[in-house]
Amino acid sequence: MCHCLMNRRSMLKLSGAGTLLLGGCDNVDLVSDETVEAMGLEAWADIRQATPVATDAAMQATLNNVSAQLLSAVGEAPGDWEVLVFRGNEINAFALPGRKIGVYEGMFQVVANADQLAVIVGHEIGHLQAEHSQERMNAQLAQGWGMRALSLILRLGEVEYAAEIAAALGAGVEYGLVLPYSRRQELEADRLGLLAMAEAGFRPDEAVKLWRRMDQAIGNRAPEFLATHPAPTSRIAAIEAMLPEFR
Ligand SMILES: [Zn+2]
Repeated sequence: MCHCLMNRRSMLKLSGAGTLLLGGCDNVDLVSDETVEAMGLEAWADIRQATPVATDAAMQATLNNVSAQLLSAVGEAPGDWEVLVFRGNEINAFALPGRKIGVYEGMFQVVANADQLAVIVGHEIGHLQAEHSQERMNAQLAQGWGMRALSLILRLGEVEYAAEIAAALGAGVEYGLVLPYSRRQELEADRLGLLAMAEAGFRPDEAVKLWRRMDQAIGNRAPEFLATHPAPTSRIAAIEAMLPEFR
């Protein structure tokens, strides 16, 4: 059922920035894949400019291996992806449209092994698989954010709105602009992550241990990851219920 006032969607073609549909319905993709990818690449470029890359080669190698196995499991070519460990104690990780994965050094203080890192990376890839960035952008447009989003897209070539773009894509905690994923999106990402883990040969059971460790870790410090993701305790029971199908 369409609830929008405009029956005919006006289409705006923007050179170099994909296509934006204005005045559409909730169940219509308002933002094209190309636009979401362009925004992801813009956000990544901005984060790269603002944040030094970690110098720990072993840490980077671990992330490379885990990411490559998970990406192969979901039918992606790992060589097409850019995967980086960023310097900083933030307990945070993200995957952006445009084939980018970032994990902060702080996350490595929480994960106990490669399987637990796979829980985090698999979850973030799951958000991309399910096109949650796109859902988020669509929802914002549907909520009357349309002109602002249009302005963002028109200015995509400038860094002025990079923070807002990053926020919309889920990396917003970098800029203090936070848009949490919904519980449905979180569970969907958890499920896709566990599926990729199982197919890649990781141990999905490590997910429960990882989220318990995360719950303990956030007792002492600012939980950046949790600004865009719900509390670990809220997902442990749901993950335990999912696990039998992945064993
Ligand atoms: Zn999430």
